[in-house]
Amino acid sequence: MTLSRRSLLHLVGNAGGVAAAYHTMAAMGLLAVPSAYAGPSALPPGRGRRVVIIGAGIAGMVLAYELRRAGYHPLVLEARTRPGGRNWSLRGGDTVTETATTQHVAWDRDDHLYFNPGPARLPYHHEGILSYCRTLGVPLEVLCNDNRAALMQDDHAFEGAPQLNRRVVNDARGYVAELAAKAVDKDLLAQPVTAEDKDRLRSFLRGFGALDKDMAYHGSARAGWAEPPDATQPGTANQPLDLQRILQSDFWQGPMQFGELSNMAATMLQPVGGMGRIGQAFGRALAGVITYQAVVTRLHRTETGAQITWKHAGTGAEHHIDAPCVVVTVPFSALGGIDTDFSPATRTAMQAVEYIPAGKVAFQASRRFWELDQQIYGGISWTSRDATQMWYPSGGLQQTKGILVGAYIWSEGVGNAFAAKPLRQRLHDTLDDVAHLHPQAPQFLANGISVSWKNVPYTRGGWAEWSRKARATQFPMLLKGDGPYLFAGEHMSFITGWQEGAVRSAHKVLADIGERMRG
Ligand SMILES: Cc1cc2nc3c(=O)[nH]c(=O)nc-3n(C[C@H](O)[C@H](O)[C@H](O)COP(=O)(O)OP(=O)(O)OC[C@H]3O[C@@H](n4cnc5c(N)ncnc54)[C@H](O)[C@@H]3O)c2cc1C
Repeated sequence: MTLSRRSLLHLVGNAGGVAAAYHTMAAMGLLAVPSAYAGPSALPPGRGRRVVIIGAGIAGMVLAYELRRAGYHPLVLEARTRPGGRNWSLRGGDTVTETATTQHVAWDRDDHLYFNPGPARLPYHHEGILSYCRTLGVPLEVLCNDNRAALMQDDHAFEGAPQLNRRVVNDARGYVAELAAKAVDKDLLAQPVTAEDKDRLRSFLRGFGALDKDMAYHGSARAGWAEPPDATQPGTANQPLDLQRILQSDFWQGPMQFGELSNMAATMLQPVGGMGRIGQAFGRALAGVITYQAVVTRLHRTETGAQITWKHAGTGAEHHIDAPCVVVTVPFSALGGIDTDFSPATRTAMQAVEYIPAGKVAFQASRRFWELDQQIYGGISWTSRDATQMWYPSGGLQQTKGILVGAYIWSEGVGNAFAAKPLRQRLHDTLDDVAHLHPQAPQFLANGISVSWKNVPYTRGGWAEWSRKARATQFPMLLKGDGPYLFAGEHMSFITGWQEGAVRSAHKVLADIGERMRG
């Protein structure tokens, strides 16, 4: 008996629902962009078995959520007073504690006045974290990530004057198209092309680069207007920027193709009201499962698993718990405070992982000058100065006030220097950098807050960076765990620096727990 593709899909759909039919279509190669996301695999019934999880970041909370659903008895020990870990949004009245400093956020209280010191954007293909937003009822909105109206500034090009993103990108594209058209005419292509192909290539390049009929680039309105059109005149496009000056800049090293990166599309997603809404929603769903202010101080093996010692951060009282299996989601950078009996090989592997010294600075603006004066609605401006990136809010558009992220730093040298600066200096230097792009900024920005993740207790770094060697040798070993200990978190994934990494790593460890329970 033969079965047509249509009847097969019909049968699969009837038996397994739309999702099953979709995955079958993907397996048959019938979809352009098949989703590889299948969610966590099924666990054997938990029958109330205890699993202790250290850390209520995204990884720890995904684990607890799924374990509880399968009938286990998860217990999460969290050092902080709140859920989320690096998933965190700051608002007026909040406090930021680094190892040697405390800052109080003195901003107005309003829905749109928040700052995400850690994660701020979600790619559309991070299906794990997006699925939890759906399940937990966290509303999402579009985040403008790559904005042609934003700016690029390089101290070593254009005399340091900021340039419009739109102008740099489209002029560069025009010049490249002109060059390519010359190559076509001179038969410089590696592959032989027919006369018809050449015509099509020329048409393509004319459209791609906004070339004129002679296949030359003389500028285009795509690069913005010197004088915009109005009721009485058609407008004048910007003169093209000088190619050599574009090449002198570092714009093409990152900012120009930023939105083409698969993790950095022009439009991304964000929870309405701040990234911290995800952590809070998990926290609510796991009320009673998470113990806050529970600072784990010691992990030692027993005959049946491990004993966990923790201290209450408020009272100082010490507690002990025994569990057959302990999942450690603490970033490796923050494990120094815990007395563990991990094997020497595990310790060596953990020490091989570097952490990025990421940091951010945000100010409250009394006037949204970026919208009013420069028509920048969301997105990012780039600078060669230490501030690196400035983020304009995608929420609260056209309100009077707003929170401007004046600096987002992640490179090693700048990040370490930022961590070592006194708080005042961080704000002063950032404001100075912002003023290079927005001279009016100092007039409107106040109450700056800075966060250097290197100095934040219980994190002590932005995110993990694996060397090629450590990835090949140490990572596979850590994936197997170490006796009663399993390791989860963004650092235990190939999606480091993203919450999706924390989700996928939690799912991987869930599968390991399932194996252990079956075995
Ligand atoms: C500046 C910055 C920008 C980022 N941008 C993005 C972004 O735009 N999008 C995105 O998706 N991701 C982004 N990320 C990455 C994202 O924040 C992480 O991948 C993710 O939040 C990590 O989750 P986790 O559960 O692995 O770790 P964590 O969130 O660090 O959770 C670990 C938990 O363990 C707790 N803990 C530590 N020590 C102890 C102890 N001794 N006892 C008890 N508990 C302890 C901590 O308090 C914490 O709650 C960014 C990160 C940073 C720093």
